[in-house]
Amino acid sequence: MGNRRLHIRNGSPHRPQPFCYPELMPETSDITYTIRRSVRAKRLRATVYPDARVVVTAPPAASVRTIVRFVEKYGDWIRQKLAKRKKAADCAYLPGGRRDYLRHRETVRKTVHDTLRRLNSAYGFTYGRVSIKNLYGRWGSCSSKRNLNFNYKLIHLPPHLAEYIIAHELCHLGEMNHSVRFWKLVARTIPDHRDRRRELRKYLM
Ligand SMILES: [Zn+2]
Repeated sequence: MGNRRLHIRNGSPHRPQPFCYPELMPETSDITYTIRRSVRAKRLRATVYPDARVVVTAPPAASVRTIVRFVEKYGDWIRQKLAKRKKAADCAYLPGGRRDYLRHRETVRKTVHDTLRRLNSAYGFTYGRVSIKNLYGRWGSCSSKRNLNFNYKLIHLPPHLAEYIIAHELCHLGEMNHSVRFWKLVARTIPDHRDRRRELRKYLM
């Protein structure tokens, strides 16, 4: 038990998926898992992936009985991880890539311009260039030259979340920070911005 961390680990969404041999699964457990045989595996290891797949990596010589015992022993740990993963399964991975970007760029540009114009009637800010980019890890940004940048993936979000992002960047023209004053500015057009921010966290780029 002392070194359980050594042979049980979390699956990372960035780790390439292992090749799985769909080996016969014993029916003694409520946990559905796949056994992956690996000559490099020195001992048994359970991995719970973000899509809730459970893979037990085992040395070629490990018997099925040993594997069953292993899964039983660490069953609680696996069930706990699975519960967390199922919660995380509410998350949506948005499509991406250059082709997707080129396909949607002009539509996004029009949506962003229309939304900016509508929202800005409440603020009256002046802004510079508006760019639609294939940004990584951020929805938008506002430069000190008053240029606004938006991630084209806005198009894959529910419209009320895209609207919040556009309002957020627009309000940085008034407040270049995330102070109370900034959020008051946002609330002028998006009174429920707190809820929308929470909802936005479910969407992964
Ligand atoms: Zn901001």
